[in-house]
Amino acid sequence: MIQAEISNELFKRAQNSIPGGVNSPVRAFRAVGGNPRFMVSANGPYLFDEDGNRFLDLINSWGPMILGHASEVVQEAVQKAIPYSLSFGAPTRKEVEIAELIVSMVPSIEKVRMVNSGTEATMSAIRVARGYTGRDKIIKFEGCYHGHGDSFLISAGSGAITLGVPDSPGVTKGTANDTLTAPYNNLDAVKMLADANKGQVAAIIIEPVAGNMGLVTPRQGFLQGLRNLCDQEGIVLIFDEVMTGFRLAPGGAQELYGVTPDMSTLGKIIGGGMPVGAYGGRKEIMDFVAPAGPVYQAGTLSGNPIAMSAGMAMLTYLKEHPETYTQLDSITASMVAGMQQNMQQLGLNYTINRVGSMFSIFFTQEQVTGFDAAKTSDTALFGRYFNSMLQRGIYLAPSQYEALFVSTAITEDLVEQYVQANLEALQEAH
Ligand code: PLP
Repeated sequence: MIQAEISNELFKRAQNSIPGGVNSPVRAFRAVGGNPRFMVSANGPYLFDEDGNRFLDLINSWGPMILGHASEVVQEAVQKAIPYSLSFGAPTRKEVEIAELIVSMVPSIEKVRMVNSGTEATMSAIRVARGYTGRDKIIKFEGCYHGHGDSFLISAGSGAITLGVPDSPGVTKGTANDTLTAPYNNLDAVKMLADANKGQVAAIIIEPVAGNMGLVTPRQGFLQGLRNLCDQEGIVLIFDEVMTGFRLAPGGAQELYGVTPDMSTLGKIIGGGMPVGAYGGRKEIMDFVAPAGPVYQAGTLSGNPIAMSAGMAMLTYLKEHPETYTQLDSITASMVAGMQQNMQQLGLNYTINRVGSMFSIFFTQEQVTGFDAAKTSDTALFGRYFNSMLQRGIYLAPSQYEALFVSTAITEDLVEQYVQANLEALQEAH
């Protein structure tokens, strides 16, 4: 048994002063049982907790740490930037350089605005789409998560479904009525929805690869079908690439699948571990953003120099080292192949979905192409599996409805350890 005394004590204290003891619900272990571990430091592929345990990390801060923890590339840039000022509240050269870099990497982005989180990016993007089109409604997909903006907490994935509140209390009926939902990967359903609300839909927002109901990939032709529909109906197509941006390719899922949206939202990797988000798109649309245009959006700490330095270092590295993506793809493929072999050996047949360095195991035999299929997973079994992996020093997302993220710090010998732990945990969980 790994030690958890200090974490348990801290969690007890935390619950007195922090709602549920955590600053983001996905960090709680509610769905899997037990208490969250309190971390002290992290390096390369590992997290170290208050009780002195070491974990192989497959969350990587929910995506940002694609180069592993304490990456020299990012840390040096941050250290260099600190003496100059933590915040100016005035424009800097770095903001120009990172904007130019993003424009050069992400196919859909001609102009970009930096914000402080993925949530800010998605909230702002739909406001701009509404201002640009003069329409109110948006279409989102069941099981997709776009941050905690009111408009998105309808049939939402991630922590919302994990806690059983995909439609969050506190969202007004008015807001909820303007969010239409369609099943992921079902183009006909989207067409019918757009038809029934002709001339009223401002935007379709989608995770081009969904990572918030576990990992679900787009069916062939689905993203292109949305592109065609948006062109026909004058709807703004928004790819929420907060997870997939800079992870699946330097230009994100839109580069990988060859479909260019009108707008994109970014977060996670773009800040190299610092709190950063961004939204961007076609010039014509982005010029609606204040002060160029009438749609208001602002931020005291937006474009923060330390965060921009971290992001700049991370993105420059990824642009200059495209081999990172082949390496990540091959390591993750080995992990998944090992899991498949384990299941064969044990006579089990669960679904594993993977794209590049993102994957999920679903404890169901159904093919998981959308939210309904994801929800057929045996979550109690997932909980036992999660805890068995934790006992073996492997830190997974504490929910069936999350994707796992692999970093370049995971090497072949660690893959072997991971696959062996997976075998034992699958046995123990049954
Ligand atoms: N969009 C997607 C696809 C996400 O996965 C997330 C967070 O996980 C968000 C938006 C919200 O980002 P943040 O947590 O930085 O607000």
